[in-house]
Amino acid sequence: MMYPSFCSACGAPTIEREIDHYRRSVCTGCGKILYRNPAPAAGCVVESDGSVLLARRKFEPWKGFWYFPSGFVEYGDDVEDTARREVHEETGLVVDLGPVFGVYSYFDDPRQDGIVILYRALVVGGSLKAGDDAAEVAFFAASGLPPAEQIGFATHRRAMGEWYAEIVHGRMAPRAERARALLVGSQSMYAPSIAQQS
Ligand SMILES: [Zn+2]
Repeated sequence: MMYPSFCSACGAPTIEREIDHYRRSVCTGCGKILYRNPAPAAGCVVESDGSVLLARRKFEPWKGFWYFPSGFVEYGDDVEDTARREVHEETGLVVDLGPVFGVYSYFDDPRQDGIVILYRALVVGGSLKAGDDAAEVAFFAASGLPPAEQIGFATHRRAMGEWYAEIVHGRMAPRAERARALLVGSQSMYAPSIAQQS
């Protein structure tokens, strides 16, 4: 996200200045500081019979890459409603949310830096069908996950590694342990073939 060139309050041009150790835009007219914050997104790690639900992106960024169904939290929207809605819009499935799977900062979306909150979720209705900005949707067993280089966004690769580490090393391993498991296993953790269900 670019630094704003004009003040959102009075429309005067801004200048960039270091304030509180961050580069910020400051209005030359009224002095307002235009703070920038990461955009929140929400989605789900949907599990069924030991498999996990992934969608393949229909549009840029990361077009053609697999990811956990998720999307931006719109102004006025509840974060949990967003997670459920994104799964439904992209995969056709209705889910119940469980506890938070993980919260991640991301810096590789050209639109804006953000924070994604992924909930554990279980299917309670609907039928699997790609929709909205998903080109394809499928459940993957741990032994047949897409290779890491086909997962879009560093955060989703990391979450996928953590999900895989849980399957292999057991649920609720400490975050540092999960991260280590991911590093150790990063060369071999994903099977090369893609198992798909229609
Ligand atoms: Zn101003």
